[in-house]
Amino acid sequence: MLDRQLQAIADEPGWSRALSDLVVDVGDLLDLLGLTHTDLGVDVDSAFPLRVPRGFVARMKYGDANDPLLRQVLPLAAEREPAVGFVEDPLQEDEAVLAPAVIQKYAGRVLLIAAGECAVHCRYCFRRNFPYGQHRLRVSAESLSAIRADHTISEVIASGGDPLMLTDRHWERLLDELESIAHVRRLRIHTRLPVVIPSRLTLRLIDRLAASRLQVVVVVHVNHPNEIGAELAQGTGELVRRGVTVLNQAVLLAGVNDSADVLVQLSEALFAAQILPYYLHLLDPVAGTRHLQVEEERACALHAEIRDCLPGYLVPRLAREVPGQTAKQWLA
Ligand SMILES: *Cc1c(COP(=O)(O)O)cnc(C)c1O
Ligand code: SF4
Repeated sequence: MLDRQLQAIADEPGWSRALSDLVVDVGDLLDLLGLTHTDLGVDVDSAFPLRVPRGFVARMKYGDANDPLLRQVLPLAAEREPAVGFVEDPLQEDEAVLAPAVIQKYAGRVLLIAAGECAVHCRYCFRRNFPYGQHRLRVSAESLSAIRADHTISEVIASGGDPLMLTDRHWERLLDELESIAHVRRLRIHTRLPVVIPSRLTLRLIDRLAASRLQVVVVVHVNHPNEIGAELAQGTGELVRRGVTVLNQAVLLAGVNDSADVLVQLSEALFAAQILPYYLHLLDPVAGTRHLQVEEERACALHAEIRDCLPGYLVPRLAREVPGQTAKQWLA
Protein backbone atom coordinates (compact mmCIF):
# COMPACT_ATOMS: atom_id res chain seq x y z
CA MET A 1 0.00 0.00 0.00
CA LEU A 2 2.68 2.45 1.03
CA ASP A 3 4.75 1.39 -1.98
CA ARG A 4 1.88 2.19 -4.25
CA GLN A 5 1.42 5.61 -2.64
CA LEU A 6 5.08 6.39 -3.04
CA GLN A 7 4.93 5.31 -6.64
CA ALA A 8 1.97 7.60 -7.27
CA ILE A 9 3.90 10.51 -5.82
CA ALA A 10 6.96 9.67 -7.90
CA ASP A 11 4.84 9.65 -11.08
CA GLU A 12 3.47 13.10 -10.37
CA PRO A 13 5.69 15.86 -11.67
CA GLY A 14 7.51 17.75 -8.92
CA TRP A 15 5.82 20.99 -9.85
CA SER A 16 2.32 19.72 -9.22
CA ARG A 17 3.45 18.39 -5.85
CA ALA A 18 4.81 21.87 -5.04
CA LEU A 19 1.46 23.34 -6.12
CA SER A 20 -0.47 21.13 -3.76
CA ASP A 21 1.70 22.27 -0.84
CA LEU A 22 1.63 26.08 -1.08
CA VAL A 23 1.94 28.37 1.92
CA VAL A 24 -1.47 30.07 2.24
CA ASP A 25 -1.52 31.02 5.92
CA VAL A 26 0.15 34.26 6.97
CA GLY A 27 1.04 32.81 10.39
CA ASP A 28 2.77 29.82 8.76
CA LEU A 29 4.77 32.11 6.51
CA LEU A 30 5.91 34.28 9.40
CA ASP A 31 6.84 31.16 11.42
CA LEU A 32 8.95 29.85 8.56
CA LEU A 33 10.83 33.15 8.49
CA GLY A 34 11.10 33.73 12.26
CA LEU A 35 8.97 36.88 12.06
CA THR A 36 5.96 38.10 14.04
CA HIS A 37 2.82 40.00 13.07
CA THR A 38 3.90 43.05 15.01
CA ASP A 39 7.04 43.45 12.87
CA LEU A 40 4.98 44.00 9.80
CA GLY A 41 1.39 45.28 9.87
CA VAL A 42 0.10 42.23 8.03
CA ASP A 43 -3.41 41.63 6.77
CA VAL A 44 -4.46 38.11 7.76
CA ASP A 45 -7.66 37.95 5.73
CA SER A 46 -7.07 39.84 2.52
CA ALA A 47 -9.58 39.27 -0.29
CA PHE A 48 -6.52 38.48 -2.43
CA PRO A 49 -5.08 35.91 -0.05
CA LEU A 50 -1.52 34.82 0.55
CA ARG A 51 -0.29 32.16 -1.83
CA VAL A 52 3.37 31.27 -2.25
CA PRO A 53 5.32 28.09 -3.05
CA ARG A 54 7.68 26.79 -0.36
CA GLY A 55 10.69 26.89 -2.67
CA PHE A 56 10.19 30.63 -3.13
CA VAL A 57 9.92 31.12 0.64
CA ALA A 58 13.21 29.24 0.98
CA ARG A 59 14.86 31.98 -1.11
CA MET A 60 13.82 34.64 1.45
CA LYS A 61 16.20 35.69 4.19
CA TYR A 62 15.29 34.32 7.62
CA GLY A 63 14.39 37.05 10.11
CA ASP A 64 14.35 39.85 7.53
CA ALA A 65 11.01 41.69 7.54
CA ASN A 66 12.17 43.74 4.55
CA ASP A 67 13.20 40.83 2.37
CA PRO A 68 12.48 41.83 -1.26
CA LEU A 69 10.84 38.49 -2.06
CA LEU A 70 8.69 38.60 1.06
CA ARG A 71 7.48 42.11 0.17
CA GLN A 72 6.14 40.78 -3.12
CA VAL A 73 3.84 38.22 -1.49
CA LEU A 74 2.97 39.34 2.05
CA PRO A 75 -0.54 40.88 2.38
CA LEU A 76 -0.24 44.16 4.31
CA ALA A 77 -2.89 46.26 6.05
CA ALA A 78 -1.60 49.20 3.95
CA GLU A 79 -3.30 47.62 0.93
CA ARG A 80 -6.68 48.59 2.36
CA GLU A 81 -5.92 52.30 2.43
CA PRO A 82 -7.75 54.08 -0.38
CA ALA A 83 -5.47 56.02 -2.75
CA VAL A 84 -6.43 58.60 -5.35
CA GLY A 85 -5.90 57.32 -8.90
CA PHE A 86 -5.60 53.67 -7.85
CA VAL A 87 -8.56 51.77 -9.29
CA GLU A 88 -9.90 48.23 -9.74
CA ASP A 89 -9.29 47.97 -13.49
CA PRO A 90 -6.55 50.45 -14.46
CA LEU A 91 -6.00 48.84 -17.86
CA GLN A 92 -9.66 48.71 -18.91
CA GLU A 93 -9.25 45.26 -20.39
CA ASP A 94 -12.98 44.65 -20.33
CA GLU A 95 -13.25 46.89 -23.37
CA ALA A 96 -10.74 44.87 -25.37
CA VAL A 97 -12.31 41.41 -25.24
CA LEU A 98 -12.43 39.97 -28.76
CA ALA A 99 -13.85 36.56 -27.81
CA PRO A 100 -13.95 34.46 -24.64
CA ALA A 101 -10.40 34.44 -23.23
CA VAL A 102 -9.07 36.56 -26.11
CA ILE A 103 -8.03 40.19 -25.52
CA GLN A 104 -6.77 42.46 -28.26
CA LYS A 105 -5.36 45.91 -27.71
CA TYR A 106 -2.38 46.06 -30.07
CA ALA A 107 -2.00 45.35 -33.79
CA GLY A 108 -1.02 41.83 -34.78
CA ARG A 109 -1.01 40.43 -31.24
CA VAL A 110 -3.68 38.97 -29.01
CA LEU A 111 -3.61 37.85 -25.42
CA LEU A 112 -4.98 34.39 -24.81
CA ILE A 113 -6.02 34.02 -21.17
CA ALA A 114 -4.99 30.39 -20.92
CA ALA A 115 -5.48 29.85 -17.19
CA GLY A 116 -7.16 31.77 -14.39
CA GLU A 117 -4.90 30.79 -11.53
CA CYS A 118 -1.34 31.39 -10.46
CA ALA A 119 1.11 29.55 -8.22
CA VAL A 120 1.84 32.77 -6.38
CA HIS A 121 -0.20 35.83 -5.51
CA CYS A 122 1.89 38.93 -6.20
CA ARG A 123 0.70 41.93 -4.24
CA TYR A 124 1.33 44.30 -7.16
CA CYS A 125 -0.71 42.29 -9.66
CA PHE A 126 -3.14 44.30 -11.75
CA ARG A 127 -5.40 41.25 -11.87
CA ARG A 128 -5.72 41.12 -8.08
CA ASN A 129 -9.25 42.53 -8.06
CA PHE A 130 -10.46 40.48 -11.02
CA PRO A 131 -12.64 37.44 -10.77
CA TYR A 132 -10.62 35.97 -13.65
CA GLY A 133 -11.40 32.48 -12.54
CA GLN A 134 -15.10 33.14 -12.94
CA HIS A 135 -15.81 34.28 -16.45
CA ARG A 136 -14.64 34.50 -20.07
CA LEU A 137 -11.85 32.21 -19.15
CA ARG A 138 -12.01 28.83 -20.77
CA VAL A 139 -10.06 28.73 -23.97
CA SER A 140 -12.78 27.32 -26.18
CA ALA A 141 -13.45 26.59 -29.82
CA GLU A 142 -14.85 30.12 -29.94
CA SER A 143 -11.56 31.63 -28.74
CA LEU A 144 -9.59 29.76 -31.36
CA SER A 145 -12.12 30.57 -34.11
CA ALA A 146 -11.68 34.28 -33.38
CA ILE A 147 -7.92 33.95 -33.85
CA ARG A 148 -8.40 31.81 -36.94
CA ALA A 149 -10.75 34.37 -38.48
CA ASP A 150 -8.40 37.35 -38.14
CA HIS A 151 -5.49 37.04 -40.57
CA THR A 152 -3.71 40.03 -39.10
CA ILE A 153 -2.91 38.10 -35.92
CA SER A 154 0.64 36.80 -36.19
CA GLU A 155 1.43 36.46 -32.50
CA VAL A 156 -0.52 34.79 -29.73
CA ILE A 157 0.51 35.81 -26.23
CA ALA A 158 -0.48 33.25 -23.61
CA SER A 159 -1.27 35.02 -20.37
CA GLY A 160 -3.40 34.50 -17.31
CA GLY A 161 -3.38 33.98 -14.44
CA ASP A 162 -0.36 31.95 -15.29
CA PRO A 163 -0.56 29.96 -18.54
CA LEU A 164 1.91 27.35 -17.30
CA MET A 165 -0.67 26.29 -14.71
CA LEU A 166 -1.99 24.17 -17.59
CA THR A 167 -0.45 20.73 -17.67
CA ASP A 168 2.02 19.63 -20.34
CA ARG A 169 -0.72 17.56 -21.92
CA HIS A 170 -2.98 20.63 -22.16
CA TRP A 171 -0.15 22.58 -23.70
CA GLU A 172 0.46 19.88 -26.29
CA ARG A 173 -3.18 20.14 -27.37
CA LEU A 174 -3.15 23.94 -27.38
CA LEU A 175 0.03 23.99 -29.47
CA ASP A 176 -1.54 21.59 -31.96
CA GLU A 177 -4.46 23.99 -32.32
CA LEU A 178 -2.38 27.14 -32.63
CA GLU A 179 -0.01 25.52 -35.11
CA SER A 180 -2.97 24.68 -37.31
CA ILE A 181 -3.72 28.40 -37.79
CA ALA A 182 -1.53 29.35 -40.75
CA HIS A 183 -1.20 33.08 -40.04
CA VAL A 184 0.00 32.58 -36.47
CA ARG A 185 3.79 32.64 -36.58
CA ARG A 186 4.78 33.33 -33.01
CA LEU A 187 3.73 32.13 -29.59
CA ARG A 188 4.72 34.12 -26.56
CA ILE A 189 4.20 32.71 -23.05
CA HIS A 190 4.18 35.16 -20.14
CA THR A 191 4.76 33.22 -16.95
CA ARG A 192 6.03 33.54 -13.41
CA LEU A 193 5.64 29.86 -12.59
CA PRO A 194 9.20 28.76 -13.48
CA VAL A 195 10.50 31.53 -11.21
CA VAL A 196 8.57 30.36 -8.16
CA ILE A 197 8.59 26.62 -9.05
CA PRO A 198 11.55 26.02 -11.40
CA SER A 199 10.65 22.35 -11.92
CA ARG A 200 7.71 23.61 -14.02
CA LEU A 201 10.11 23.70 -16.98
CA THR A 202 9.80 19.98 -17.58
CA LEU A 203 11.76 18.33 -20.37
CA ARG A 204 8.47 17.29 -21.90
CA LEU A 205 7.31 20.91 -22.13
CA ILE A 206 10.68 22.15 -23.37
CA ASP A 207 10.75 19.43 -26.03
CA ARG A 208 7.28 20.31 -27.28
CA LEU A 209 7.97 24.05 -27.40
CA ALA A 210 11.25 23.45 -29.23
CA ALA A 211 9.55 21.18 -31.75
CA SER A 212 6.87 23.74 -32.64
CA ARG A 213 6.70 25.30 -36.08
CA LEU A 214 5.89 28.53 -34.21
CA GLN A 215 8.70 30.73 -33.02
CA VAL A 216 8.38 30.55 -29.27
CA VAL A 217 9.25 33.30 -26.83
CA VAL A 218 9.01 32.66 -23.09
CA VAL A 219 8.82 35.81 -20.97
CA VAL A 220 9.55 35.06 -17.32
CA HIS A 221 8.72 37.56 -14.59
CA VAL A 222 11.68 38.08 -12.27
CA ASN A 223 11.78 41.24 -10.15
CA HIS A 224 14.84 40.67 -7.97
CA PRO A 225 18.13 38.80 -8.52
CA ASN A 226 17.51 36.63 -5.42
CA GLU A 227 14.69 34.94 -7.36
CA ILE A 228 17.16 33.33 -9.75
CA GLY A 229 18.68 30.02 -8.69
CA ALA A 230 20.50 27.18 -10.39
CA GLU A 231 17.35 25.23 -11.22
CA LEU A 232 15.68 28.13 -13.02
CA ALA A 233 18.91 28.83 -14.93
CA GLN A 234 19.08 25.19 -15.96
CA GLY A 235 15.55 25.33 -17.38
CA THR A 236 15.95 28.63 -19.20
CA GLY A 237 19.37 27.55 -20.48
CA GLU A 238 17.80 24.41 -21.92
CA LEU A 239 15.06 26.45 -23.63
CA VAL A 240 17.64 28.74 -25.21
CA ARG A 241 19.82 25.83 -26.35
CA ARG A 242 16.75 24.42 -28.14
CA GLY A 243 16.05 27.69 -29.94
CA VAL A 244 13.42 29.25 -27.69
CA THR A 245 13.90 32.96 -26.93
CA VAL A 246 13.75 33.76 -23.23
CA LEU A 247 13.08 37.33 -22.06
CA ASN A 248 12.31 38.95 -18.72
CA GLN A 249 9.71 41.45 -17.67
CA ALA A 250 10.02 43.08 -14.27
CA VAL A 251 7.86 45.54 -12.39
CA LEU A 252 9.57 48.43 -10.62
CA LEU A 253 8.52 48.11 -6.97
CA ALA A 254 9.30 50.25 -3.93
CA GLY A 255 11.35 48.33 -1.38
CA VAL A 256 11.91 45.45 -3.80
CA ASN A 257 14.03 46.60 -6.73
CA ASP A 258 14.00 50.40 -6.70
CA SER A 259 17.75 50.88 -6.57
CA ALA A 260 20.25 51.04 -9.40
CA ASP A 261 22.43 48.41 -7.70
CA VAL A 262 19.62 45.86 -7.53
CA LEU A 263 18.52 46.55 -11.11
CA VAL A 264 22.08 46.14 -12.39
CA GLN A 265 22.45 42.88 -10.45
CA LEU A 266 19.12 41.75 -11.83
CA SER A 267 20.19 42.27 -15.44
CA GLU A 268 23.52 40.52 -14.79
CA ALA A 269 21.85 37.56 -13.06
CA LEU A 270 19.26 37.26 -15.83
CA PHE A 271 21.88 37.18 -18.55
CA ALA A 272 23.91 34.61 -16.62
CA ALA A 273 20.74 32.47 -16.82
CA GLN A 274 20.52 33.19 -20.60
CA ILE A 275 17.55 35.53 -20.12
CA LEU A 276 17.45 38.95 -21.80
CA PRO A 277 15.84 41.90 -20.01
CA TYR A 278 12.84 43.12 -22.02
CA TYR A 279 10.59 45.44 -20.02
CA LEU A 280 10.85 47.22 -16.72
CA HIS A 281 7.25 48.20 -16.07
CA LEU A 282 5.92 50.99 -13.97
CA LEU A 283 3.32 49.65 -11.58
CA ASP A 284 -0.22 49.73 -12.92
CA PRO A 285 -2.20 51.91 -10.52
CA VAL A 286 -4.40 49.15 -9.18
CA ALA A 287 -6.25 49.55 -5.88
CA GLY A 288 -4.18 48.22 -2.97
CA THR A 289 -0.71 48.82 -4.43
CA ARG A 290 0.03 52.44 -3.54
CA HIS A 291 2.76 51.47 -1.05
CA LEU A 292 4.69 49.69 -3.82
CA GLN A 293 4.68 52.57 -6.29
CA VAL A 294 7.83 54.27 -7.58
CA GLU A 295 7.11 57.73 -8.98
CA GLU A 296 7.76 58.21 -12.68
CA GLU A 297 10.46 60.82 -12.18
CA ARG A 298 12.40 58.53 -9.88
CA ALA A 299 11.91 55.61 -12.27
CA CYS A 300 13.43 57.63 -15.11
CA ALA A 301 16.37 58.64 -12.92
CA LEU A 302 17.02 55.01 -11.95
CA HIS A 303 16.81 53.97 -15.56
CA ALA A 304 19.36 56.63 -16.56
CA GLU A 305 21.64 55.34 -13.80
CA ILE A 306 21.57 51.73 -14.96
CA ARG A 307 22.19 52.79 -18.56
CA ASP A 308 25.51 54.16 -17.36
CA CYS A 309 26.48 50.78 -15.88
CA LEU A 310 25.31 48.18 -18.38
CA PRO A 311 25.72 47.25 -22.04
CA GLY A 312 22.68 48.36 -24.05
CA TYR A 313 21.34 44.83 -24.48
CA LEU A 314 21.08 44.43 -20.71
CA VAL A 315 19.05 47.61 -20.23
CA PRO A 316 15.31 46.85 -20.09
CA ARG A 317 12.87 49.28 -21.68
CA LEU A 318 11.13 51.34 -19.07
CA ALA A 319 7.48 51.08 -20.05
CA ARG A 320 4.00 51.79 -18.95
CA GLU A 321 0.63 50.79 -20.22
CA VAL A 322 -1.82 53.58 -20.98
CA PRO A 323 -5.40 52.57 -21.76
CA GLY A 324 -6.49 53.44 -25.28
CA GLN A 325 -3.00 53.72 -26.80
CA THR A 326 -1.82 51.59 -29.73
CA ALA A 327 1.33 50.39 -27.95
CA LYS A 328 2.92 50.46 -24.55
CA GLN A 329 4.46 53.80 -23.83
CA TRP A 330 8.26 53.88 -23.50
CA LEU A 331 9.65 56.30 -20.98
CA ALA A 332 13.22 57.60 -20.72
C1 LIG B 1 1.48 44.03 -23.11
C2 LIG B 1 0.45 43.59 -24.01
C3 LIG B 1 0.78 43.05 -25.27
C4 LIG B 1 2.22 42.88 -25.69
O1 LIG B 1 2.85 44.10 -25.92
P1 LIG B 1 4.37 44.07 -26.43
O2 LIG B 1 4.77 45.51 -26.46
O3 LIG B 1 4.36 43.40 -27.77
O4 LIG B 1 5.16 43.27 -25.41
C5 LIG B 1 -0.23 42.68 -26.12
N1 LIG B 1 -1.54 42.81 -25.78
C6 LIG B 1 -1.89 43.32 -24.58
C7 LIG B 1 -3.36 43.45 -24.23
C8 LIG B 1 -0.92 43.74 -23.65
O5 LIG B 1 -1.29 44.24 -22.46
S1 SF4 C 1 1.94 35.43 -11.31
FE1 SF4 C 1 1.46 37.17 -12.65
S2 SF4 C 1 -0.77 37.10 -12.94
FE2 SF4 C 1 -0.25 35.79 -11.17
S3 SF4 C 1 -0.49 37.10 -9.35
FE3 SF4 C 1 1.67 37.20 -9.96
S4 SF4 C 1 1.78 38.98 -11.34
FE4 SF4 C 1 -0.39 38.41 -11.16
